[in-house]
Amino acid sequence: MRQFKKPTILLSSCIEDQACRYDGSGVKSPFIKKLKPYINTIGVCPEVAIGLQVPRQALRIILKEDDVRCLIFSKTGEDVTNQMKAFSDTFIANLSGSEVHGVILKGRSPSCGIKDVKMYKDYGKAPSVPKKTSGLFAEKILERFTQIPIEDEGRLINYNIREHFFTRIFTLAEFKDIKKKKSIQKLRVFQNENKYLIMSYSPVILKKLDNLVANDEERNIENLLDEYEYFLCKALAMGLRPMRNINMLLHLFGYFSQDLSKHEKAFFLDSLESYGDKKVPFSVPLTIIHAWVIRFENEYLLNQTIFEAFPAALIEVTDSGKGI
Ligand code: SF4
Repeated sequence: MRQFKKPTILLSSCIEDQACRYDGSGVKSPFIKKLKPYINTIGVCPEVAIGLQVPRQALRIILKEDDVRCLIFSKTGEDVTNQMKAFSDTFIANLSGSEVHGVILKGRSPSCGIKDVKMYKDYGKAPSVPKKTSGLFAEKILERFTQIPIEDEGRLINYNIREHFFTRIFTLAEFKDIKKKKSIQKLRVFQNENKYLIMSYSPVILKKLDNLVANDEERNIENLLDEYEYFLCKALAMGLRPMRNINMLLHLFGYFSQDLSKHEKAFFLDSLESYGDKKVPFSVPLTIIHAWVIRFENEYLLNQTIFEAFPAALIEVTDSGKGI
């Protein structure tokens, strides 16, 4: 069982914490409830932070003719755009000392929504416009945090998106701890143990990171770690693709192919094909390989993070049904 560093997640306060929505409600999210013991959170409700009451009139974004977006009260039209922008800037400036490894915001909110927020022509009964946007607070967060995963709680219902998010935040938390310690030895171990995980995202970046760690003699450690972080985040942001996973699994299969019976090999290759055809999840061929790693006591592979990229307790078999 791996020991995991706790990632720090910036979280909309209305999700599994405070009943601070405009109507006095909160948002139930079973998976965030389950995630909380494994993370540190920085909670924020931008609307309460700018002095709005709970409950309050709903806000909306309006799109003016010159493409300017304003945050207004939907019934009275009172404009709070400047307050929200000023708060967002100050909040982000104050965060700069904190390590944030991921962000989870409430979807569709005119303040927190990442990209699916309705816009209207005006307050009152004015119609919506056929474009979606991001909330005013979320927009500033997206501008500031370009390397870490930012999701809304609705998208995380999807199994693939959720596992990808977990992989990113726990990998980043581990790396940031090494960065803080400025240890080249620990960086080498990290690179070794994450080899197949990074390969599943980008074999090209894996090579680049291998080179960075191998040619460290003349380098200033801080510059090296900055460059490593840049490429690591770039790889992790690429999203998982079945073909890259299959390539990585075939590399792992190569460790054992001499020791397996022809039926075992056929069974694995069939499972790989089923994964490629989206008939079974990635965990099926990966678990077969993992069983061989344990059976053949391959010490090097036993420590590969690909087999446990985040705490196993967070694996949920149910999801929205989209994708595997
Ligand atoms: S969506 Fe954002 S602004 Fe709205 S209640 Fe939740 S935390 Fe507050």
